[in-house]
Amino acid sequence: MASQLEYDLKHYINGQQVAGISGRYSSVYNPAIGKVISQTPLASGDEVRSAIAAAHAAFPAWSETPPGKRAQVMFNFRSLIIEHMDEIATLVSREHGKTIDDAKGSITRGLEVVEFACGISQLLKGEYSENVAGGVDTWNMRQPLGVCAGITPFNFPAMVPMWMFPMAIACGNTFVLKPSEKNPSCSLRLAELLTEAGLPNGVFNVVNGDKEAVDTLLTDDRVQAISFVGSTPIGEYIYQTGCANNKRVQALCGAKNHMVIMEDADIDQVVDAVMGAAYGSAGERCMAISVVVSVGDSAADAMLEKLVPRVSSLKVGPYTDSEAEMGPVITPESQSRIKGYIDAGVAEGASLLIDGRDLTVKGHENGCFVGATIFDQVTPDMSIYTDEIFGPVLCVVRVETYEEAVKIINEHEYGNGTAIFTRDGDAARNFAHRIQIGMVGVNVPIPVPMAFHSFGGWKRSLFGDHHIHGPEGVRFYTRMKTVTTRWPSGMRSGAVFNFKAGGEH
Ligand code: NAD
Repeated sequence: MASQLEYDLKHYINGQQVAGISGRYSSVYNPAIGKVISQTPLASGDEVRSAIAAAHAAFPAWSETPPGKRAQVMFNFRSLIIEHMDEIATLVSREHGKTIDDAKGSITRGLEVVEFACGISQLLKGEYSENVAGGVDTWNMRQPLGVCAGITPFNFPAMVPMWMFPMAIACGNTFVLKPSEKNPSCSLRLAELLTEAGLPNGVFNVVNGDKEAVDTLLTDDRVQAISFVGSTPIGEYIYQTGCANNKRVQALCGAKNHMVIMEDADIDQVVDAVMGAAYGSAGERCMAISVVVSVGDSAADAMLEKLVPRVSSLKVGPYTDSEAEMGPVITPESQSRIKGYIDAGVAEGASLLIDGRDLTVKGHENGCFVGATIFDQVTPDMSIYTDEIFGPVLCVVRVETYEEAVKIINEHEYGNGTAIFTRDGDAARNFAHRIQIGMVGVNVPIPVPMAFHSFGGWKRSLFGDHHIHGPEGVRFYTRMKTVTTRWPSGMRSGAVFNFKAGGEH
C-alpha cells in the first residue's frame, strides 16, 4: 500500500512538520478517482499533548504581544493566501472533490475572516465609565483565554478552520487545530503559511487524528475553549464532554435547510437559486438547500418544469475538468450512504424525478460520483426529509398554506439556514420574524453571513451560546475583566460597610 501513496502527511507542532508515531492511520481519497492517495497519521494522546504543550508555552509571550503586532501577522497571512490561492484550491479539490472555482470561493470566505481579524485592535477595545461614584471610574477589557482548540469537518477544509483560528490568534490565544482526517493537507499548508507570515512557533499547531485526539483535547486542563464544526451526534458529545471538563464550547452542527417558494415568487430566480444551493459542492454544505417547500402546487409545477431539464444537463466531473459544475462526494462510503437514501426515498413512496444513482463519469468510472437527484411528493415522515443526507439530493414538499410551511420548518430538529422566495414584503417579514432558524434568506438561497457578522444555527444545529466569527467570535475567544478605580484624592468617603444606593463604594 505504502508505495502507491502519492504523498506523506504529518502533524504541525511548534513551527514544524512532525511525523506521526502512533502507528495508526486513516485513508485519504482522491474522490474523483475513488483511490486512496495518502494516509493521515492518527495522533495518540501523547502526541496531542505535545501540541497542547507547545501552544501552552507560546501563550504568555503571544498574549502580551500588542494587538497591532498580532494584526500585522494576519495582514502578512492574508497576502500569502492570495499569493498561494491556486495551490490551496488544488489541495482542497484533490482531497475533497469540489470544483476549483468552488474551492476558491470557499477560501475567499475564509480569507474574509482573516481580513476581519486584521482589525483586532478596534475589536478588542473596552468600555469606560467615568465617575460611577464619587471619584470612582470603571472600565473593562477583553483578555485572551489561553490554549483554544478547533475540531473541523471535511466539507470546507480551508474555510471552516479559518472561521476559528484567525479570530482566536488575533485575540491573543494560541491554537491547536484537529482537522478532518479525510482531508488534512490544506490545514497543514495554512500552518506553514502562518509561520512564513511571522507567527511565533507554537501559536498555531495542527494535530491529525480521530476520537482519541479529540478526547485528549476535551479533557486536558490546559485547553480553555473548543470550537467544533461537524455532525450533530458528535457535536452534542463534544459540547457535553467539553462543558463537563469546564471548557467554553461552541459546536456548530448538522442541518436540513428549507427553501419556501410562494406562488408569487420569480420562478427563474428560484430555479437559479436551487441549482447552486442544492447541487453546489455536491450538496455537502451545511447551508445547502435540501428541501423546497412549495406553498400551493402551481409554484412547484412551474419550478420543476424549468428545474428538471437544468438538473438533467448538469455537468458532473472531476476538479481537473474546468467545465465541471459539480464534483464527486467525499468517499466511496459516503457515495453508498447517499445512494441508500435514494433507495429509501423510493421505498417510502416519494416520486423520483431524477435518479443520480447510476451516474458514471467517463474516464473516472471509479470516482465517488452521485448524480443530481430530485424527489417530488416528499412528506415529513420520510427519512429523506428528516435526515441530513449531505449529498446532491433535493426533496420537494408540497403544502397548501404558508402556515403549514412555517410549521414544518419550525418542527424540524435542525435550525441552521432557511430562505423564502416571494415578492410579498409582508410574507417575507413575517417569515423572518417567526421562523425558528439561525440564518434566514429573503430571495437569497444560502444566507451565509459575511465575516463581520456571525454564523450559526438554532436548535440541534448549534450547541453553545456563541455563533462563530464576527463579533461573537471575539466574545467567544476572550473574557471580560472589569476594573473599578479610585485614586487617592480629596474625595474620600471613609470606611463603608454596606452597599449604599447611588453607587457609593
Ligand atoms: P463529523 O462529525 O463526522 O466530523 C467532524 C469532526 O469530528 C472531524 O474532525 C472528525 O475527526 C471528528 N470526529 C468524528 N467522529 C468523532 C468521534 N466519535 N469523537 C470525536 N470526534 C469525532 O462531520 P463531517 O462528516 O466531517 O462533516 C459533515 C457534517 O458537518 C455535516 O453534518 C454538516 O452539516 C456539518 N457542518 C456543519 C456546519 C455548520 O456551520 N453548522 C458547517 C460545516 C459542516
